[in-house]
Amino acid sequence: MRFRINKTYNLIGGNRMKVEIIAVGTELLMGQIANTNAQFLARKLNELGFDHYVQTVIGDNPERLKKVTAQAEQRADIIIYTGGLGPTRDDLTKQTISEYLAQPLIHNEVGMESIKESFKGRVMTENNLAMGLTFENGHTFPNDVGQALGTAIEHNHHTYILLPGPPSEMKYMFNHYVTDYLIDQYQNDLVLSSKYLHYFGIGESQLADTIDDLIMTQGNPSVAIYFGNFMVTVRLTAVGKNEAETNPMLASLAKTINHRLSDYYVGEGENLGINEVLVKKLTERQQTIAFAESFTGGLAAKKVVDVPGASKVLQGSAVTYTKAAKANILKVQQQTLEAFGMVSAETATEMAENVRNLYQSDFGVSFTGVAGPDAMEGKEVGTVYIGIAQAGKPTIVLTPTLRGSRKNIQYRSVYTAYFDIIKK
Ligand code: ATP
Ligand code: MG
Repeated sequence: MRFRINKTYNLIGGNRMKVEIIAVGTELLMGQIANTNAQFLARKLNELGFDHYVQTVIGDNPERLKKVTAQAEQRADIIIYTGGLGPTRDDLTKQTISEYLAQPLIHNEVGMESIKESFKGRVMTENNLAMGLTFENGHTFPNDVGQALGTAIEHNHHTYILLPGPPSEMKYMFNHYVTDYLIDQYQNDLVLSSKYLHYFGIGESQLADTIDDLIMTQGNPSVAIYFGNFMVTVRLTAVGKNEAETNPMLASLAKTINHRLSDYYVGEGENLGINEVLVKKLTERQQTIAFAESFTGGLAAKKVVDVPGASKVLQGSAVTYTKAAKANILKVQQQTLEAFGMVSAETATEMAENVRNLYQSDFGVSFTGVAGPDAMEGKEVGTVYIGIAQAGKPTIVLTPTLRGSRKNIQYRSVYTAYFDIIKK
């Protein structure tokens, strides 16, 4: 997400924009489901500084939808619709508003790819493709957690924003894309700032459970969780008049979250890598590192070298793939290799200690394991031994059980070692 610099002018000269919500769906009208979308949107609109006086619920009926839209135009500047963007016959919001405004829809390429992908091997109808429609002269909101794209159009001094009905999709889209759009268009006197907190060694759902209460009661700042770069990231986004207002809001919530998740905390920053944190920590502590790599093939060294300033901390890395290389270069004892095998805690220990001596570094870190696709020495794919030798300390061996592709096992192993050293 973009980080917005505070803009000081106010586009609307003090007049607050009026927004109306139109929830579309016969189920709502029949009382089968509650209109939680309107509740969510109302709260958000209030936080964003919009005026919001009227909400409407309407069934899946194009003529009534047009009528209600005409009425809303009399009262509001911005109309937000939820529901009726899906693939069934009664999902007609986009088509109806397009007809009403005489503004064409087009098949959005991004949406099409994702829809086709999800229908691989199944029959896809014209209706399914309709979920990828957006206004030709409008704006597109991607749907990262579903299929139907959101879309907005500005026409004759009004803005029409069409969002999907399923609450999880609608909320995600609103938090990730629509808020940004609304602030860009109408609330130039507000800033939106985000803080990104990264965690390693914890799954997305476990993390979500740990802060479930904060997610459920989120308002301003909002909380979003996602996985990427082998870490789970929590993104906090606050809206306020300026950063002097948003920063303390973000800092306070970050503190609460970190208090619960400190064991897993890596660091903060939009595009932070765990390798950057390792180099930073070692530099601060004035420590050096060397690697003895087998199945990681140099990845441990490479990810450190990727970080500017790596020369202060990295002494070198020995990629010893075969048994002979481990014996000849790293001087792992034949006896150890024979008795315990290449993939063993004993071999990992000797590799780590010997590479530390070889390079005269503070840390010696070794990787030996089975990255797949085939088992080795009777050990399953994903069996990994990571030796961490440190001057003046007993050597430890980490044995995470890893799953997934070769690449996944290599990266996870390297980052497990980095994380252990970061936390020392
Ligand atoms: P789909 O692709 O699922 O058809 P859609 O955009 O067409 O999505 P609808 O068909 O109107 O949306 O609604 C889908 C589901 O989302 C509904 O069955 C209901 O569970 C939920 N939903 C729709 N509108 C609301 C609302 N205003 N508040 C809460 N839940 C809603
Ligand atoms: Mg539907």
